Amino acid sequence: MTDYCEIEYTEKGVITKCDETHDKRAGTFILPGITVLEEFDTIESEDGRIGFGVYVPEESQIYVAGNVPQEIKLKALFHELAHWVQDISGIDFDEDTANEFAERLYNAMASVETHDKRTENARGCDKQTGGD
Ligand SMILES: [Zn+2]
Repeated sequence: MTDYCEIEYTEKGVITKCDETHDKRAGTFILPGITVLEEFDTIESEDGRIGFGVYVPEESQIYVAGNVPQEIKLKALFHELAHWVQDISGIDFDEDTANEFAERLYNAMASVETHDKRTENARGCDKQTGGD
C-alpha cells in the first residue's frame, strides 16, 4: 500500500499529487505573497474596513501594516494566512476562526521562543561552570 498523496514543499508553495481515488485533494497551492508596508500603521481593505492586514484573493497577496508592534504585525499576518487557507479550501471567510488561528499560532511561536531562550541560558551556565 502506498500513501495516497505525495506532498512536495517548494519555494513557491505546497504541491500535492494524489492517486485517482483521492484526486479531489490534488492541486497546487501557491503561497500568497506577503508584503509588509513599513510606513503604515493601519490598512484599509477594499470594503472600507480598517485593520492591520488584508488578504487580497485576486492578487494572492497579504499586506501587513509594518509600523506597529511586532505582536500585532505577526497576529495580523497569521490572521490573513487563515483567510488564505479558508480561500484555497473553498470555505467562507470567518473572522472568529481567523482570530483563533492567529492567537494560537502566535502563542505557539512565543512558547517555542521562550524554550529556545531557556536552552541558550542553560548552555551559557554550562559554559561558565565548565572550568578551563
Ligand atoms: Zn479577517
